[in-house]
Amino acid sequence: MTAEIIDGKAIAKQVREEVAQEASALDANGVTPGLATVLVGDDPASHVYVRSKRKACAEVGIKAWDHDLPASTPQAELVELLDRLNADPQVHGILVQLPLPEHVDEQVVLDRVDPAKDADGFHPYNLGRLLSGEPVVAPATPAGIQELLIRSNVETSGAEVVVVGRSNIVGKPLAALMVQKGPGANATVTVCHTGTRDLEMHTRRADILVAAIGRAKAITGPMIKPGSAVIDVGINRTDDGLVGDVDFEAASEIASAITPVPGGVGPMTIAMLLRNTVKLARRTMGQPG
Ligand code: NDP
Repeated sequence: MTAEIIDGKAIAKQVREEVAQEASALDANGVTPGLATVLVGDDPASHVYVRSKRKACAEVGIKAWDHDLPASTPQAELVELLDRLNADPQVHGILVQLPLPEHVDEQVVLDRVDPAKDADGFHPYNLGRLLSGEPVVAPATPAGIQELLIRSNVETSGAEVVVVGRSNIVGKPLAALMVQKGPGANATVTVCHTGTRDLEMHTRRADILVAAIGRAKAITGPMIKPGSAVIDVGINRTDDGLVGDVDFEAASEIASAITPVPGGVGPMTIAMLLRNTVKLARRTMGQPG
């Protein structure tokens, strides 16, 4: 079997076009959606992500404010900046790029973002809404994975979904999304991590296998159920260039559908961040997200 490639780039383009239309409709009503990004320090990967997020904002008609701060920025200064952004009516979404420098308590900073402006959906209030099945905005990467599955016609209802990785930004919120009763969800979800006793036993029965591990090619061919859909979240820089968490060549002989790296989940993350920002802007007009 040669798997169908789930083209994240093409699907993200569709989503961005829809977001551009929504942004333009809001703009015509006097509200230009605005996203403020806060980047602290010199992490090269973070700079790449934030640059592409800002470029994408410009393309869909979202106004972007860039706050690039030195790694030495005291936590109190960061909190003050967030308070100013929270109070600014032109700012509808705030994105704090993670990771933050070690002297900054990440949770204190994420908690400070007004939940109504939380473009990444990482505030405990929004995570709680997600868990209760009434999300305002869902974290961008998990929301992007769900959108990829829906738009690729991968059946999730009743499917065995196995997520490898339990981070707060990917694994856990994805599990919370997929277990809900509703379209693009209604799955039986298993979350695996380094404490999982027999990883392969779980992955081999996954109809939908999501790898969010951060280890190049950690998911090998024998770990994959024939005919399954494989979603590779991993981005690993190796001597061979960027590779995912899945051995793509082996997996594409076994799975029925698979996301490539790059060009799979990555572009969807940015598209969903834009969608979240427009949603938050719409909510300030009293319209449902
Ligand atoms: P984290 O490092 O926060 O989490 C990794 C998870 O994988 C942990 O839960 C860890 O378990 C688990 N894990 C590690 N090794 C194993 C193993 N051998 N067996 C089972 N589980 C294992 O990573 P993130 O979730 O932040 O990111 C994961 C990957 O996705 C990275 O490559 C990252 O670059 C990429 N990423 C891509 C995005 C995109 O837009 N495409 C967005 C965000 C991330 P434990 O908890 O026990 O330590």
